[in-house]
Amino acid sequence: MVTLADLQVRTLGPCTVSSPLAMYVSERETNEYYVGETDRILYDDTVELITARGLPLDELPTFEAGGPRRSIFFDPAATKVGVVTCGGLCPGLNDVIRAIVLELHTHYGVRDVVGFQHGYAGMVEANGHPVVQLTPEYVARINERGGTILGSSRGAQDPVAIVDRLVELDIDILLVIGGDGSMRGAHNIGREIESRGLSIGIVGVPKTIDNDIPHIGQSFGFSTAFAKAAESIKAARVEVEAAVGGVGIVKVMGRHAGFIACYAALANHDADFVLIPEVEFSLDGENGLLPLLARRVSERGSAVIVLAEGAGQDLIPADDRTDASGNAVLGDIAGFLRDQIGKDFANRSQPLTMRYFNPGYAIRSVPADASDSVYCARLAQIAVHAAMSGRTDMVVGRRRHRFVNVPIPFVTSGSHSVSPDGDLWLSVLESTAQPFSMR
Ligand code: ATP
Ligand code: MG
Repeated sequence: MVTLADLQVRTLGPCTVSSPLAMYVSERETNEYYVGETDRILYDDTVELITARGLPLDELPTFEAGGPRRSIFFDPAATKVGVVTCGGLCPGLNDVIRAIVLELHTHYGVRDVVGFQHGYAGMVEANGHPVVQLTPEYVARINERGGTILGSSRGAQDPVAIVDRLVELDIDILLVIGGDGSMRGAHNIGREIESRGLSIGIVGVPKTIDNDIPHIGQSFGFSTAFAKAAESIKAARVEVEAAVGGVGIVKVMGRHAGFIACYAALANHDADFVLIPEVEFSLDGENGLLPLLARRVSERGSAVIVLAEGAGQDLIPADDRTDASGNAVLGDIAGFLRDQIGKDFANRSQPLTMRYFNPGYAIRSVPADASDSVYCARLAQIAVHAAMSGRTDMVVGRRRHRFVNVPIPFVTSGSHSVSPDGDLWLSVLESTAQPFSMR
């Protein structure tokens, strides 16, 4: 059960410096630019959920509002900020870096912003990566490119060595753009900072192309990613319609959450089957994938399967391998399905032309679309506001059309996935006409 205490963001101390943003925003008491400390966003979104708690209003779980404060913790002229990107690539990383630098320079007057290269590995001095001075000129056009100008990496790093480097470089704020692992890493760095009694803030901009980090609303880059995946589904549809017994398999990202598969399939209604990690399916049996697929192809001439990479893992032998960060390597569900479908159609003496599409890396590396660019820029600004006001051990997110500050332990304590009983999955079933249960 979530409580108000779970949502309390840690701060480094009282805010005693007047925000230089006053130059830009109206000083009227009634203006809505500054966020007040009593402005909080409800965690529950229905009357039923709130009523069930039986709590007075001021004890209900609520998020802290993200945004600029009238008074801040750090004196901009004496503040140095570090930025790092970690984990896999995702559209919009450069937009976030750019907006962080511009917000710090232009609005707060923070002149000293450095970028660490190649993720947390680049923060460990012994690895020999020099820092990059991030100026408005340096970041001016980086949003036009995909990837991250700072580079990234996986693999465990020692928080003690990382904090040593922060101290050596005299850094006051570390902004981390990365996924669930990076946020766990950020929390560990924050604990090391706390144990040394230092006033260094850590604020994260959560990155997940799969949209699987909970409590932050939709993640940046997700909408660019599923739009790109939808293009591959469209291409698959064209290919299989031209073939005899055409079956297209489009493998998209989604290790534990099938959001990209669902949204990409819904974007153009060209999918016949959507297979995601959250919904188990069988191959044989009346409602298994193979007989349903054979029927669909014989009735309509072709079929397209949208396959999230983490789907159907229970059907294939487990892969014991892990990547450098300790994440399990997934079994090759696409290869397995291609093999099984080939054998099944042969057994039925049914003609088959299979086409396989794997747009994974092409999706990760594209620049953000216009909507994601806007979102990245705004998330970055909210992260800077939070950091300058002394918030730490937190990430930014967007709930109920409001930006929020969320403690890192809260977002790393669970994950976000497609509910098989929810309205998104229902929309997918309606769009594909695949049965509720494929078992
Ligand atoms: P994504 O999975 O979206 O690509 P991620 O941030 O989860 O992004 P990881 O490779 O898991 O990617 O982690 C990135 C960095 O975070 C690693 O270099 C590692 O130093 C650190 N990290 C990962 N997992 C943990 C953990 N459980 N505890 C502390 N640090 C971690
Ligand atoms: Mg991860």
